[in-house]
Amino acid sequence: MPRALITGITGQDGLYLSELLLSKGYEVHGIVRGQNNPRRAVVRRAVPDVHLHTGDLTDLSSLIRALGASHPDEVYNLGAVSFVAYSWDNARVTTDVTGNGVLNMLEAVRLHCGDDPSRVRFYQASSSEMFGKVQEVPQRETTLLWPRSPYGVAKVYGHYMTINYRESYGMHASSGILFNHESPRRGPEFVTRKVSMSVARIAEGLQDELVMGNLDAQRDWGFAGDYVEGMWRMLQQPRGDDYVLATGETHSIRDLLDVAFAHVGIDDWSGIVRQDPQFMRPAEVDLLIGDAAKARETLGWAPTVSFDRLVRMMVDHDLALLRAAR
Ligand code: GDP
Repeated sequence: MPRALITGITGQDGLYLSELLLSKGYEVHGIVRGQNNPRRAVVRRAVPDVHLHTGDLTDLSSLIRALGASHPDEVYNLGAVSFVAYSWDNARVTTDVTGNGVLNMLEAVRLHCGDDPSRVRFYQASSSEMFGKVQEVPQRETTLLWPRSPYGVAKVYGHYMTINYRESYGMHASSGILFNHESPRRGPEFVTRKVSMSVARIAEGLQDELVMGNLDAQRDWGFAGDYVEGMWRMLQQPRGDDYVLATGETHSIRDLLDVAFAHVGIDDWSGIVRQDPQFMRPAEVDLLIGDAAKARETLGWAPTVSFDRLVRMMVDHDLALLRAAR
């Protein structure tokens, strides 16, 4: 039975990846941070068969202990302080966790592997936020990185450190450059979930206004369930490498609002949505659109959920939650 260890198991991707690996017959282990972390119960409910270990990406010895307790064949480093807007006000902790946490995990895996550094396969959750002020359209593995937030800078550090450990020690280390991926499990601070939750509340008569930031930014949004399949496929290759996962389509925040509101029968949202500077960012990533040709050709990976279907799935989920609560 193959074994996997996941950091960030309490997040959207950690839950989908756990389900995928369990369905493939893996023994799945996860690292959970902190004392009485309320997300521990979420993992227990969603994926009861996962083995949980206490640890923190900023604490190297806790990572070494978790590796010793789980003996994984594959490590997926999904843990991060992941909200871009938060990273300006909390640049130091974002750097410590999202950046230096990658170095800690790589170093823990290297030490754990002893004489055979490629014995444990390593996945690093890199991000399209690394492209920032994009230097090429669409963005691919070779596009020059130009991050625009402390989060993006920290992810660039983790990306290059992963490549460096692969090249220095011969580790089987892969960096997945994933464009935005969403689902009903997305945190409510991210724009897709904020919109799906608000639109559901507006449709149910529980809210009458939606306050937003920049409506002109464009993102390449896919379904998180498709993207964890890509992560797993990267680690089944003979060697570690870097891959973009993306849909190849881009949509503005306005498009997102159009699809979400239309799904509950509202065709003109101009009187409902208000823009407020509190949701604007000191520097914006204006346009993301990925070229996943390498993943398609090498991994046989392709997204299966369209933008419209994804948005409607999220609104339907949030409507069902509200109705069940009544
Ligand atoms: P990101 O791409 O990782 O930053 O993911 P987000 O979902 O947080 O943001 C996506 C885009 O939506 C960014 O360009 C934001 O500036 C824009 N946006 C506009 N209004 C909002 C809002 O109210 N909340 C969030 N989170 N993003 C917003």
